[in-house]
Amino acid sequence: MKQPLALGLMTYFPDGPLQTLQTVRDMEIPTVQFAVLPASALLNGREFEAAEVRAALAQTGVEITTVFCVFGGESYTDIPTVRATVGLVPEDTRAERVERIAHISRLAQELGVKRVAAHIGFIPEDAGDARYPALVETMRAVCDDVATRGQNFALETGQETARTLKRFINDVGRDNLRVNFDPANMILYGNDQPIEALDVLAPWVDGVHCKDGSWPTEPNKLGKEKPLGEGDVDVPRWIEKLLEVGYRCPLTIEREIAGEEQKRDVLRAKALIEECLARSQSNPMRN
Ligand code: MG
Repeated sequence: MKQPLALGLMTYFPDGPLQTLQTVRDMEIPTVQFAVLPASALLNGREFEAAEVRAALAQTGVEITTVFCVFGGESYTDIPTVRATVGLVPEDTRAERVERIAHISRLAQELGVKRVAAHIGFIPEDAGDARYPALVETMRAVCDDVATRGQNFALETGQETARTLKRFINDVGRDNLRVNFDPANMILYGNDQPIEALDVLAPWVDGVHCKDGSWPTEPNKLGKEKPLGEGDVDVPRWIEKLLEVGYRCPLTIEREIAGEEQKRDVLRAKALIEECLARSQSNPMRN
């Protein structure tokens, strides 16, 4: 079982489960969040079998903490495209994506994973929005379905303000609805100050992405994702704040590039997080 504040890496197993997890283990990272891509986005057009993933986990000793749903047809090109294509908010793809979450939840169950997560899209800031009640109903159905497998469902942050996300969680009213807190997304979408947002969302946060980025500089465009510590998150302060609010779940590094450059940035991110944790432990004010 993972230690409190275990380091993690967000990965879709780009080199296949075994090779990717061997690399993760060699970086001395004990956990991953596994992003399940649609088959069409994978190299040989087929999804990984649960047995193949289980064997790689057993061989490497790495643990999957979260299975993350990625849907076919999603695009993060700019904000209008995200609004139109991402998550459960777009109505024309909603039913098939609810089915997809159930499929991924079953996969997670086969892997012994108790947490499923996704971007569900831009939750309407206005609770009077005509589309809002159906989204709340859909979320209840998803929570109830994953609950049959003993799982939580975590909402990735950033496409709405923290206050809107809190209101949505309360409106859905399901005990297994949680938050995967990505501080960079709040900045990339220009929505919220991540450190203040933690005060609003802390009771529901059971996972994070340690990711960084800069604020958008043009209308309708996202900001730029950056190596941890090089964007506008203020990572040392954000980690300090996580500890202050009692967070003890994994610290999962996310870097949205590939290959050797990603590995280098992940190792730097790991060193930065370890430095922040060590500083916090040596702080006599902490208890
Ligand atoms: Mg993220």
